[in-house]
Amino acid sequence: MNILLIYAHPESRSLNGSLRDFAIAHLKAKGHEVKVSDLYKMQWKAALDPDDTPGYDHQMPFNPAVESQRVFAAGAQPKDVEIEQAKLLWADAVIFQFPMWWFSMPAILKGWVDRVYAYGFAYGVGEHSEKHWGDRYGEGTLAGKRAMLTVTMGGWESHYSDRGVSGALNDVLFPIQHGILFYPGFTVLPPFPVYKTGKVDAARFDQLCSAYAARLDNLFTDQPLPFRRQNAGDYDIPALTLKPHIAPGRHDLGIHLTDSDAT
Ligand code: FAD
Repeated sequence: MNILLIYAHPESRSLNGSLRDFAIAHLKAKGHEVKVSDLYKMQWKAALDPDDTPGYDHQMPFNPAVESQRVFAAGAQPKDVEIEQAKLLWADAVIFQFPMWWFSMPAILKGWVDRVYAYGFAYGVGEHSEKHWGDRYGEGTLAGKRAMLTVTMGGWESHYSDRGVSGALNDVLFPIQHGILFYPGFTVLPPFPVYKTGKVDAARFDQLCSAYAARLDNLFTDQPLPFRRQNAGDYDIPALTLKPHIAPGRHDLGIHLTDSDAT
């Protein structure tokens, strides 16, 4: 299978660098084709700005979505953006690997999303009307592909548990897993979290690699997070609020999972 690793850490001799090397070697040994976008090494331009939209009329206010739509439709996007979009289309599965920085991804990776997820590619896809608010949240350009976050954290597992001070991990990752991955169509696998990174030594690194290998081996068979599809009947249209009989009385992010009625 074709597997793309989007990797964001500034130091190759880091824990993230070691996990990256392990994953690449393991996936290749299992017969997969692997491509890597090593964002710091590529000196990825993170800011979405008028330089990304050739032909933009500088007399007019810069509207990023309108300009993105124009250059995407015209085939006039920057080469680095086109290359990343082609890698996404090539991939059967995409792994996003990064250290958690301020409860999110490093800015260089967010900038990759801002620029590669063009209007017409990752959003603004499909009919947009009162009856059908786009092919998104489970549908779209990246439908049929799997995605997984590999995320390292200084915090402990308990800090990210259901009653942990940092918030439950899947809540913290909701904007990424639901907003960035599920929105353009990815089937989203549970994340591979590495907690308490300050305490990693050789023995723990070996344990981590064993656990990671198991997740990599099951990339195409593990059950995904059962996010509700926008257009599968659970949401009122066009308000796109969950229908009142689903998870009644609940307002937490877990209601957007199809198993939320069971909990
Ligand atoms: P490293 O520092 O490179 O390594 C961690 C440990 O692993 C070291 O002891 C190292 O010796 C060991 N190690 C590395 N490679 C190997 C190997 N091959 N074999 C054996 N041992 C090895 N944490 C949170 O929980 N939440 C946050 O919101 C958050 N925000 C942050 C914001 C910023 C700006 C920064 C800098 C850090 C933040 N952190 C946060 C902590 C951050 O998530 C961790 O520092 C990071 O995940 C550690 O990953 P690393 O690759 O940088 O580890």
